[in-house]
Amino acid sequence: MTATLIDGRAIAASIRKQIKQRVKELPTQPGLAVVLVGEDPASHIYVKNKIKACEEVGFHSDVRRMDENVTVGELLDTIQELNQDPKINGMIVQLPLPKHLNKQLIIDAILPYKDADGFNPVNLGSMFSDDNRLVPATPKGIITLIKSTKQDLPSKHAVILGRSPHVGKAVATLLLQENCTVTICHSKTAHLESITKQADILVVAVGKPKMITKEMVKPGAIVIDVGINKVYDTLVGDVDFEEVQDVAGFITPVPGGVGPMTITSLLENTLICLALQRDMA
Ligand code: NDP
Repeated sequence: MTATLIDGRAIAASIRKQIKQRVKELPTQPGLAVVLVGEDPASHIYVKNKIKACEEVGFHSDVRRMDENVTVGELLDTIQELNQDPKINGMIVQLPLPKHLNKQLIIDAILPYKDADGFNPVNLGSMFSDDNRLVPATPKGIITLIKSTKQDLPSKHAVILGRSPHVGKAVATLLLQENCTVTICHSKTAHLESITKQADILVVAVGKPKMITKEMVKPGAIVIDVGINKVYDTLVGDVDFEEVQDVAGFITPVPGGVGPMTITSLLENTLICLALQRDMA
């Protein structure tokens, strides 16, 4: 059996086309700000792609590049400035941050209604209360990819590998809302293979190259590979795509699966931020 490819690039392109049309109809141009600290090469590529996506759909963008040794105070001042900037509707701080900066303190400083990544505890808390006004971009994109398979989700057993608040736990919450039965696995989970083999939907967000082999996958499963791992000069996912595609029913590639959807969800979230700000005006 050869799995149907879930083409994240194509799905993202189609949604971006709709966003571009909506932007043309808006009275003001939506604006997204990205705060980038330090010289991490992967972060620089992610930010470049986010700015390119803004240009593609007609958003205003503002990148604040800050030195690796920036102080917490300087970073908080920049966030406050962007919080007050009327041209900026959504804002993200590119992660990871250098070790001397307290990530949570920085995320907490972003106004909840400008929190395009959906990482602020107010927005995460709302999502856990089934109010999805601003949900984290990667999980939001993952749900769109799963729904693109047009499979009936209620009653499906979804197994999530990874329990980070912004990816694994958030995906689990959103799939619970879709009435899936959800199991979350992590680094201390025993007998992982016996659990993954039960999954109708398998979402892998771990960060270990090709850890999911075909023996770990239920025939016909929907397999979503969130992992991005650089192996020599190539990007690979957490799923061994070559062999798992022979067992799965649907599968996302890396690159070209979750990545483009994450950026597209960020654009969608910025439009939601704009609408929230309009409601408050
Ligand atoms: P974290 O490092 O925060 O979390 C990794 C999770 O994997 C942890 O919960 C950890 O468990 C779990 N884990 C580690 N080893 C195992 C194992 N052997 N079996 C089962 N679970 C295990 O990473 P993120 O959630 O931020 O990201 C995960 C991956 O997704 C990374 O590769 C990242 O680059 C990628 N990513 C991709 C995005 C995209 O747009 N495509 C966006 C965001 C992330 P424990 O909690 O016990 O330590």
